[in-house]
Amino acid sequence: MSKDQSAHFRHIPSVERLLSDPSIEEAIRPFPRAVAVEAVREALDEVREELRRGCGPSEGDLPLADTYRGRIVAAAERRLRPSLRRVVNATGIVIHTNLGRAPLAEDHFDRAREVAVRYSNLEFDLEEGVRGSRYTHAERLLRELTGAEAALVANNNAAAVLVSLHALAFGKEVIVSRGELIEIGGSFRLPEIMSASGARLVEVGTTNRTRVEDYRRAITPETALLMKVHLSNFRLEGYTSDVPPSELAALGAERGIPVLYDLGSGAFARTGPDGEPTAREELARGPAVLTMSGDKLLGSVQAGIILGREEELGRIRRSPMMRAVRVDKLTIALLEATLFQYLDPERVFERVPVLRLISRPPHAIRQDAERLREKVLARLPAGANAEIVEGESEAGGGAIGQPPIPTFLLALSFGGIAPDEMAAGLRAFDPPVIVRVKSDRVVVDPRTLFPEEIDLVADAIVRVAVFLRERASAGEKE
Ligand SMILES: *Cc1c(COP(=O)(O)O)cnc(C)c1O
Repeated sequence: MSKDQSAHFRHIPSVERLLSDPSIEEAIRPFPRAVAVEAVREALDEVREELRRGCGPSEGDLPLADTYRGRIVAAAERRLRPSLRRVVNATGIVIHTNLGRAPLAEDHFDRAREVAVRYSNLEFDLEEGVRGSRYTHAERLLRELTGAEAALVANNNAAAVLVSLHALAFGKEVIVSRGELIEIGGSFRLPEIMSASGARLVEVGTTNRTRVEDYRRAITPETALLMKVHLSNFRLEGYTSDVPPSELAALGAERGIPVLYDLGSGAFARTGPDGEPTAREELARGPAVLTMSGDKLLGSVQAGIILGREEELGRIRRSPMMRAVRVDKLTIALLEATLFQYLDPERVFERVPVLRLISRPPHAIRQDAERLREKVLARLPAGANAEIVEGESEAGGGAIGQPPIPTFLLALSFGGIAPDEMAAGLRAFDPPVIVRVKSDRVVVDPRTLFPEEIDLVADAIVRVAVFLRERASAGEKE
């Protein structure tokens, strides 16, 4: 550091000096003391760092409270901001695992709220006045909606698979096709879940073709389950064959071995003629146990739904592992609130956001895209361009059986601003706006925007573009 610079640094006030300044005292009054003190330290570090890089405030400003007040308040607000926040999903991927999967309907919370802020009959039998079971709450609805003999809810589908394997096949063999040994989202790898459950994996067939005879030949006295897994996030094409659940169930019935089917996304309503079959349809094909996620196509909270025969579900219910993967009361309340919507098949597509977003017709999306375009076009810096192009949205969430959904995209370019830089700027917006970058353009798919988010996204795009443009031209001048 030069002499000149260290002289500069001497003008920086102390923490105590800033904390006792009347205007700063006033500005930090709303914050807890400990947060305010840390915020002052952070603001001072920020200024020192800027001076080191040669871009800090000038010497005369250094002792002034004005130089720090805004930084202190911003730092305090950052510290009090929750880590888990709402974001705006402009990607068009409806069930986006990284963005929290299914958004819930607002009125789902009216029921959940009551249960959350007061006591509940979570494990209390109101008729008998004795201890009850938390698993009975969603069970009636789940049975009614799917025709299952019994139903159970675990923490998520990975847990549902794990506990089912553990309860039904600990120390025994489970036969799975090599074509179905999948990995989902990095942390769900079927062979690993299998060994964590204590079951022994027996692979049959080849990657691309497995026949029912392959399962039959692999059956031994040690076989506890035949397992089928929905491919979810990839597709096998070309010279392939797998064994349909009904054929596997027929083999199971013949040999007295239950079939476990991990359906993955699992739906309770068909989203179109070629949408995924429903859980009810899949159950009718004869698996003893079927597992699926609560927050994929069902459109509810994170949960693992286990449906099937009482004999097998009873064993799962009584397994000690069930205790480790049990659900919270809020999960049960929110899941029930979603399930009630399915009692009205006419309206469920309006009432469950995932279904509503997936089924929004392209012309409605186009209108939103046009509104968005109008709102940004007049206010964007010169050289920017916004056009509407045809594209595809995705159901997401491993619902690969769902066909791609035609949509309209707003494709934006910003002259001198790189699309990745623009996307990063939008992520830093409050609330963060998540977009896709495609063929060197920022693309916004209004399918996953809620009505009030159109203005918000337009505003974010304009403000971030103007900010980046100004920063770029300030950089050029320097
Ligand atoms: C998504 C998925 C899982 C994991 O479900 P989570 O609810 O995320 O735990 C398991 N199996 C399949 C086939 C899936 O698609």
